[in-house]
Parts: sequence; C-alpha cells; structure tokens
Amino acid sequence: NNEVIMSQWREQFSVFRQRPDWAYFDNAASCQVPDVVLEAICDYQHHYHANVHRGSYEQSQHATALYESWRAKVAGFVGATSDSLIFTRGTTESMNLLAESLLRPRLQRGDNVVVTLSEHHANWLPWQRVCEQVGAEFRVADLKDDGTVDNLMQLVDERTCLVSLNHASNVLGVINPVAEICHQLREQGVLSVVDAAQSAAHMAIDVNQLGCDALAFSGHKLYGPTGIGGLYVRHDVLAAMPPYQVGGGMVDKVYQQDSTFHSGVQGFEAGTPNLVGAAGLATAVEFLQDARANGSSEYLRGLFKQLEAVLADVSWLTALPHSGGRVPVISVHNPAVHPRELAICLDQDGVSARAGRHCAQPLTDKLTSNGCLRFSLGLHSNEADIERLARGLRECKLKP
Ligand code: PMP
Repeated sequence: NNEVIMSQWREQFSVFRQRPDWAYFDNAASCQVPDVVLEAICDYQHHYHANVHRGSYEQSQHATALYESWRAKVAGFVGATSDSLIFTRGTTESMNLLAESLLRPRLQRGDNVVVTLSEHHANWLPWQRVCEQVGAEFRVADLKDDGTVDNLMQLVDERTCLVSLNHASNVLGVINPVAEICHQLREQGVLSVVDAAQSAAHMAIDVNQLGCDALAFSGHKLYGPTGIGGLYVRHDVLAAMPPYQVGGGMVDKVYQQDSTFHSGVQGFEAGTPNLVGAAGLATAVEFLQDARANGSSEYLRGLFKQLEAVLADVSWLTALPHSGGRVPVISVHNPAVHPRELAICLDQDGVSARAGRHCAQPLTDKLTSNGCLRFSLGLHSNEADIERLARGLRECKLKP
C-alpha cells in the first residue's frame, strides 16, 4: 500500500507551519512546542499571573489554585497524586535533589549505589559524586547484547542503598524492565529511582505499577517548555527527606538561630516557582494524553519501522544494539565517518539529527569509537521527513 503517512499533529506546531519541509529528528533532546502549550503560557501571563502561596489578594490566590491544579495534572500523568509531585527544573535537577536529600543522609562509607551503563550523565554524576565524597562504592550494571540492563540484581547486596536506572535509554531507545527491578528492590529494602526522561513522552507511566520510590521527567521532552520537570517521590520516602534548597516558600518559621520548614512537596520548592513552566507542562501532558487517545503510539510505531528500514538500508551505517521494545529513538555510527560531519551534511538537506555522545559517555565509549548519530521521532514527524532523510543519506558525499 502506497499511502503516505501524514501526521495529524504537525499542523498544531507553528514551527512546522513556518517550515513545512523541516525534518526534525532531535525530539529526544527537546520536542518542539505545540500551539496549545504556547497559548496556555501566554494566557497565564496575560490574565492570571501573580506570585503564589503568599498573597492574600484574589489574583494571588487564584494563581496559587492554578499552580496546584497544574501540579495535580502533572502528577496524574504518572499515576501519582499532588502530594508526591515536586516541580523541578527537569531530570537533572531532580536527580541532584535526590542525591542530596535522599541518598546523602543515608549513605555510609562502604555502602554502594547501583546504576546501569546506559545512563545519561544526569543519572550518573549526582550519585557518583555523593559516593566519592562519602567513601561509598559506585557500581555500574552492564548491558545485554539487546541493550537492556544485565544482571543488575547481582550487584545488589546488603550494603546497597539505592539503585537508579533509566526507563528508556536516550541513545538506544531500549526500554528497561523497571517494574520487575523496582519490585525486587522493594522486597530487599533498597531504594529505587527511575529516570523517565525518555519514556514519559512515549509510554503511559504509573508509578504505583512500576513500584519505584522516585521517578523524574523533563517537560521539554514531552512538548512542554524548558526549565520545568516533574519529580515523583513516594509519600513515606518524601516525608523523611531533608530540604534540598532553602529560601522563601518552603519555610515555616525563621528565627535568629534556627528555622522550621514545610513538610511535603512545598518543602522542596524554594523560591518563586516556575509558574510559566508549570502552566506549559500541565497543558503539554494534556496534549500528549489527547494524542495518545487518538492513536499516537500506533502512529509513531509505524513511522519508526520506516525509519529503521531506511537506516538499515544504508550499508555504511550500523545501528547500535537494541531490543524489540523501545521508544522511537535509534542511533547509528561508522568509525570512518564522524557523526558531526554527517549531521552537518544532512542539515544542508533540511534534516536535523543529533551527533555526539549524547551525555552518555560510558555507553557510547563502549559501543562506538567516535560517537553516533541519533534520530528520534515526535508527533509532528511524518513520512516526508523520512524520505528527506533517505535522500540526504543517498546523496551524502561523506560515504566511505
Ligand atoms: N536522562 C535522560 C535519559 C535524558 O535523555 C536526559 C536529557 N537528554 C536527561 C536525563 C536530562 O534531562 P534534562 O536535560 O531535561 O535535565
């Protein structure tokens, strides 16, 4: 069948109305922002803006109610309730918050923390640093040939304090069996953290079903604005965590020599929150939920098959290892062609793909000699993008 696959969502992005031929394949880094999200941000700024949680005047109280309603929406997006959802700047800040407020107070010299080889630096460096400073061991679980984590539970012992792993890899797209792992960790009394930065746009997430203690995601990877993300922390775990940053908004009483802080999620949001970001993120999750109800997962699965086929057809590029189950992210490489040069070459044909080590150097160092070129789909992607890519690769002068 010769039917061309068109995205029903593409027209909802002003950037693609302006650049209808742009083949944007860097959604795993940041998605473009649809009109509804931009409108929600403007609507808030035009009509409802005031500082929250402080004012006794009506506009401030209304802004507070809006902010808390956005929190409820974003919490619901991952199957959580408002009292366990902290707004952060994104996954990086969420992991730093957890490293300081969840891990550091519990970690003793001689304990250990486990991650996997396919982590983004955001889910590596915060834990590695605390381990170094405390004298704990930082353990890394290897991967199977299909790209999923291998034998993680073998690294877990009675001195394991916390395990943090990605739901889906930002380089391989591979989906890890996080529910299975988190439930095993729970039985052993080990804390589990999930990096859902890459999965949240593509999979329905339910933190209760996953059984994790904490889960982080970023707004800009699911059609929201930059500078905002969500951090779920299980209720009882959150209750035992000291504040991360201190300042206005999270404080209860401040005395000359000591102070007391708010309990719950408000205790982790020091200073004036990113209200504009929260407005955008709440609308982005609605946009995404609506797209899912209209077949976006099936749409992207079909399109991703085409993308895989086009790349498999290029004899001089090899895909990094992957399993059957993955989000629409694929990386290819060739030791004789620098991925950056290839990205620049494709850019001349209106194809934007991402070259480099993708903030996952332990993984890319193992799998490639010079990094890789990553392609990731978004709701606006369509068959014309993939045809443009196929043409660009055919005509590329860098072919070895
Ligand atoms: N984890 C993964 C798997 C990611 O893909 C990213 C973003 N590339 C991050 C963490 C960091 O997210 P942010 O830059 O939004 O903090």
